[in-house]
Amino acid sequence: MSAPRLFGTNGVRGVVNQELTSELALQMGKAIGTVMKGTVAVAADTRASGHMIRAALSAGLMSVGVHVVILGVVPTPALQYYVKTRDNVSGGVMITASHNPPQFNGIKCISADGTEASKEEEREIEILFDTEIPTRSWDEIGTIDHVNEAGKEYVNAVLSNVDTDTIKNANLTVCLDCANGAAFETAPSMLKKLQIKTVTLNCNAQGEFPGRPSEPTEENLSDLITLMKNTNASLGIAHDGDADRCVFITEKGDFVSGDKSLALLAKLELSKKKGKVVTPVSSSSMVEEVVNKEGGTLVYTAVGSPIVARKMKECGAIFGGEENGGLIFPDMQYCRDGAMTVAKMLECIAIYGPLSEQVAELPVYYTQKRKLACPNGLKDSVIEYLKDAVTDANIDDTDGLKIIYDDGWVLVRPSGTEPIFRVYSESKNEAVSVSRADEYESMVAKFLESR
Ligand code: MG
Repeated sequence: MSAPRLFGTNGVRGVVNQELTSELALQMGKAIGTVMKGTVAVAADTRASGHMIRAALSAGLMSVGVHVVILGVVPTPALQYYVKTRDNVSGGVMITASHNPPQFNGIKCISADGTEASKEEEREIEILFDTEIPTRSWDEIGTIDHVNEAGKEYVNAVLSNVDTDTIKNANLTVCLDCANGAAFETAPSMLKKLQIKTVTLNCNAQGEFPGRPSEPTEENLSDLITLMKNTNASLGIAHDGDADRCVFITEKGDFVSGDKSLALLAKLELSKKKGKVVTPVSSSSMVEEVVNKEGGTLVYTAVGSPIVARKMKECGAIFGGEENGGLIFPDMQYCRDGAMTVAKMLECIAIYGPLSEQVAELPVYYTQKRKLACPNGLKDSVIEYLKDAVTDANIDDTDGLKIIYDDGWVLVRPSGTEPIFRVYSESKNEAVSVSRADEYESMVAKFLESR
């Protein structure tokens, strides 16, 4: 077994000056620079610790001869677009802890093609991290430059990928909540270019996230929901801290879960071009039903946006994404893209009308989500046990075990980071979804007791 990994499911994350220190950032800079070489672009979200981590990381990069380009505070997909569109840039580093609380920060690596670094690339950096990394002589150290155009370029690229005339003609008003995070400039500027009247909330850059926690869940969006109920706006928009994701509130003030926006935008994309839509096995069957009805094909993957993005590239998918509001539009780039998601949803409303009506037309499924404690060492044996124990259904082992019945499914999936199993159960019949979740929860619990 290898040593505990530095990279979790979404880069290196930790509490600043506890796990994530300037010493760690410096050594990470040396390791990343040794692997990426050449020129590396660095950006950050609005977190208070961003400047400190950026300075230490940049020093590490330069000490091994890398030229650093600082893009300032921009959304993660703006950095990814910058890296993707420049042949002379060999990679990127985003300083963000996405939806984690403000005391956290993180370091996330971007490959030369603008996608999130693969596990293999991360592993290479991790191995170097634990070694004494040779630095260059004084006359070979890297340079550092600041560029300001990344946010503007990103917005223009997003606008070139949507039907701006249709959006402008719809005469929309929106309420925008940036969580005091990385979209604070790009999101209002994009809406302005689309001639949309915008009521802003938490759209100043503030690294303590005073407005709301940066994860855009229904509980965290009560101010935006209230605002939507008290204005005539057509759409409520909420980003996470680094604005790779976005969720919506209807004109009536109802929260729209990420799998519903995934289904609606799959429908929009399939209306233009038939093809494949990629999503993890944990997504609602509602997405599959909509995709099939619109003449598309659904392709399932393991959970994780880099996995979805890579699968999309491999199979030439027209669209894809995750149930948490991280949607991927391949004509723009192969990564979760918050601004693209906003622009496409505006197009969707401009064409098909009020969001609440579009949501009401989606097929209804009931989903249970449970968590079960399980020591990491027993996770494999739980999966083996279930494989033998389940005889009356089809089993898919793309990620954990998905047990597929005629009237629904159960997904039993070990967490990659915590000593828990996640149990999802879904059916069009609410009682079935609840009883199956109960059944699998108690099967796993009994098995663990017997060990
Ligand atoms: Mg994020």
